Amino acid sequence: MKLRQFGAALGGMLLAASLVACGGSQSSDTATTQSADSTEPAKYKIETDVAFAPFEYLGKSNEYEGIDVDLLAAIAKDQGFEYELDPVGFDAALQNVQSGQADGVIAGASITEERKEVFDFSDPYYDSTVCCAVKADSNIKSFEDLKDKNVATKTGTMSAKWAESLKDQYNFTTTEFKDSDIMYQDVTSGNSVACFEDTPVMKYAISTGSVDLSVIEEADAKSEWATPYGFAVKKGQNAELLKKFNDGLANIKKNGTYDEIVNKYVKADK
Ligand code: GLN
Repeated sequence: MKLRQFGAALGGMLLAASLVACGGSQSSDTATTQSADSTEPAKYKIETDVAFAPFEYLGKSNEYEGIDVDLLAAIAKDQGFEYELDPVGFDAALQNVQSGQADGVIAGASITEERKEVFDFSDPYYDSTVCCAVKADSNIKSFEDLKDKNVATKTGTMSAKWAESLKDQYNFTTTEFKDSDIMYQDVTSGNSVACFEDTPVMKYAISTGSVDLSVIEEADAKSEWATPYGFAVKKGQNAELLKKFNDGLANIKKNGTYDEIVNKYVKADK
């Protein structure tokens, strides 16, 4: 090969290399990291809440655990995909998926008609409703007693919407908090007289003794506030991941893994 030909070939190789590099950097705009070797499974970025026991919480071993965490692990194993769990808080989790910075969210997210405008949800995997709780020794016994008082809610949640829908009728004000544990603290410290939360989560916190609160009102299980949880992806995106989740969920329901996971965290008598 003459020097000039070699130079041209080298230039071509460099051009090809830079095109590959360019393709690589383009794909990093999306959340999924697709392995160069196509036989390797994709690695998804999945968002979750920071403190939402028994669905996700930092366990004693400093690792995230809970029903959502274990379900996702079992489904990923069943379907052969890899993922990175990213505990960012509920509102941030939804936003990161909506903006395409992450592939999916598993965070006890209620399947609602409004959210279906921007997310595609999996099949429902857990029934839930919302409630209102006060300090265990509080003299507040019903919504009527909330008159002229302040209640704590959690940003972007169904239970916050329920509180907003009631505040004019019962004349109370609301303050929003990012995470459930800070919201509970506002009630135990006496700043707010009540908080609004998902019933399974509130009852779990009470039954495990992590908060000294008690539930005074619960939304009707047949109302619009009783909505099951689903795994969600950005609308029109990640259909493949959603299908894997649904297929895996069906499999782990059939083989008993789903029940094992739920029973590990929630005793049948609760
Ligand atoms: N289930 C509630 C909702 O989707 C709250 C979820 C959460 O706080 N992680 O709005």
